[in-house]
Amino acid sequence: MDTHKERRVPQERTEAIVLKAIDFSESSSIVTFFTPDRGRLTCMAKGVKRPKSQLAGLLDTFNRVELLYLWKESRAVQQMTDGTLLERYAGIKENLDKSIYGAFLIEMMYRIAHENEPSHDLFGEYVDGMAGLDVWTGEVCMHVCWQAYRLLTVSGFSPTLRECCQCGKETSKDVAFSYDGGVTCPACAADVRIDQGTYQTLLAIGDGTECPRLKGGEKVFQLLRYFTSRQLECDFRSARVIEQMVNA
Ligand SMILES: [Zn+2]
Repeated sequence: MDTHKERRVPQERTEAIVLKAIDFSESSSIVTFFTPDRGRLTCMAKGVKRPKSQLAGLLDTFNRVELLYLWKESRAVQQMTDGTLLERYAGIKENLDKSIYGAFLIEMMYRIAHENEPSHDLFGEYVDGMAGLDVWTGEVCMHVCWQAYRLLTVSGFSPTLRECCQCGKETSKDVAFSYDGGVTCPACAADVRIDQGTYQTLLAIGDGTECPRLKGGEKVFQLLRYFTSRQLECDFRSARVIEQMVNA
């Protein structure tokens, strides 16, 4: 390798979330991070899979790390040079529900974050939400709905809740839901009817600066999951895993 040339590439340091790591070779991985300054950032992590690597375990999904990498505008995959663990979210990883539902939030971030786009508010919201989920003792699904709603709001995708997303009329009874925009009045086209209990839960999630201590989040999760799919034009593999678990 031309080390002289590498030396001229500036090294950057950032906080980062590990979204995804895929094997590249016997010893290296390609890792996608979410960062405040550069949004979604993909790095080659050389030697990370060697048994004695000091970076082993650092690049597990969910981890919040301090990342050092060489930045070069012209390349799609940057070069990771070092990293340290800041938070591994043991409370999420050691709880089956939290890790399965949490995977949805990770996948959501992968879709929402753009490459090389400052995302400080989104990063802060994501980290606060995960810290909350780590220690949450209530219904896991409810907390994940609350986090998902906040991430949608910060990134400009939040569904309308108090007026019809189609005609703008104020709605409170016989509401339905359209994955194109949010709740709808009885006169407008919708994807799915929602019962009053689900609607009230949705309002509590939308209004709350803290996650409401309610139960029955599965129906709201379905609404938000399909709404997010429609808005971001993608399917969520993690959501299909959740459905299999809930229906099992
Ligand atoms: Zn309407």
